[in-house]
Amino acid sequence: MRVRHAVVAGGGIGGLTAAVGLSRRGWRVTVCERAPVLTGIGAGIVLAPNALRALEAIGLGPGLGPGRDPALRAAGDALPIQVGLRTPDGTWLSRSDGGAVSARHGLSAIAVHRGFLIGTLAAALPPGVVHLGVSVTGLDDTGDTVTVRTSAGDLRADVVLAADGLRSALRTYLFPEHRGLRHAGEAGWRAVLPGAGLPDPQAAETWGRGERFGVVPLADGRIYVYATAVSGPGATPRTDHHAELTRRFGAWHDPIPALLDRLDRSAPDPVGILHHDFHELAEPVPRMHAGRVALLGDAAHAMTPNLGQGGCQAIEDAVVAAHLLTPAADVPTALAAYTRARHRRTTRISRRSRRIGELARLSHPLAVSARNLAVRATPRALSLRALDTILGWQPPSTPGPGTGPHRLKRLMP
Ligand SMILES: Cc1cc2nc3c(=O)[nH]c(=O)nc-3n(C[C@H](O)[C@H](O)[C@H](O)COP(=O)(O)OP(=O)(O)OC[C@H]3O[C@@H](n4cnc5c(N)ncnc54)[C@H](O)[C@@H]3O)c2cc1C
Repeated sequence: MRVRHAVVAGGGIGGLTAAVGLSRRGWRVTVCERAPVLTGIGAGIVLAPNALRALEAIGLGPGLGPGRDPALRAAGDALPIQVGLRTPDGTWLSRSDGGAVSARHGLSAIAVHRGFLIGTLAAALPPGVVHLGVSVTGLDDTGDTVTVRTSAGDLRADVVLAADGLRSALRTYLFPEHRGLRHAGEAGWRAVLPGAGLPDPQAAETWGRGERFGVVPLADGRIYVYATAVSGPGATPRTDHHAELTRRFGAWHDPIPALLDRLDRSAPDPVGILHHDFHELAEPVPRMHAGRVALLGDAAHAMTPNLGQGGCQAIEDAVVAAHLLTPAADVPTALAAYTRARHRRTTRISRRSRRIGELARLSHPLAVSARNLAVRATPRALSLRALDTILGWQPPSTPGPGTGPHRLKRLMP
């Protein structure tokens, strides 16, 4: 049988995961990534149990299957113990430990540097799959095959996975009427700091009036910090990010001032601070596929980062697509099944993430007090249960020929 060819546009989290899944499914895969190097720009990333289970389904991850990746497993062993929500004076509004999530879902979330995740995914690919410095510039789907126009020439593909991120050009190609992105009302800063010499910081997000500060210890000992503030499409951010962060968060509870000190540009180990406005899709895409082309990750459902699920959903998409695209599958039929499997779930999660942003952006003192009271009054078990539909997701469980030696285990009690 002819080995069929999949072209993946974009070598980010979703594209590389899809490439790993499809390669292990027996496809010949070409990833076109427009950047000259694969980078993990974007500081840290939290991988929730649903994403870890999806990675395990393609032979990666810290779960229980024999195909686990030792590096990710090692990362999974160093879990943040405490997580919670605080107020700027340090009062805990809610608090939980990694053990509660793990007891409920069989796995805890892990936090890694994006560079580590991208590197782990790329290392799991056969040589020659990733083509760097190659942009996908257009597509021509004739029904039987797709001609992919790239900056390095045309490619012939049986299926195309468009994983070209937030500002996906292929989304516009598939759905020219789609309204595209909208500003999510916030901007954010992110950085990764060396952790040595700092008292063991606890993973927490602190909510003030329209501002948030997050601290997440990474598995490698570094500390991922992020902050958000209400912003609008026309806002011009101050370029001195450190001064701006200190102005906003310098008087908040420990260890935030110490972390901000460490961010100081004059520190011996200079640290880059990333600053971005947050965007999300203005409306869901009508479908996640058209013909032989599927949208995946942010290209399909760019969402706000409030639930930490954008990347996790990209990973789920990739694993489901690879599962449905058996070597003998009728591609348009498999992609229609992909839309059925993914569209409703990702639309709901995007909506939920937006609602959390609305709460976090509250700035009127009365509204903030009412919100904090409600968070404090919510029993821990209820908060955990509320996440079941997201974190309890199970990957498709019938590996077909060519999926590799892994075996899926049911991790939920
Ligand atoms: C502040 C913040 C915090 C976040 N925290 C989390 C978190 O903790 N957990 C989580 O799960 N998610 C998180 N997310 C969301 C997550 O970062 C994204 O959802 C995820 O990166 C999407 O992956 P992707 O593969 O779809 O897109 P990307 O990772 O953006 O990759 C797209 C790739 O396509 C390439 N590309 C673009 N156009 C072309 C083209 N024409 N041709 C070839 N290549 C192209 C780009 O160079 C890029 O490499 C966060 C997001 C933000 C903004």
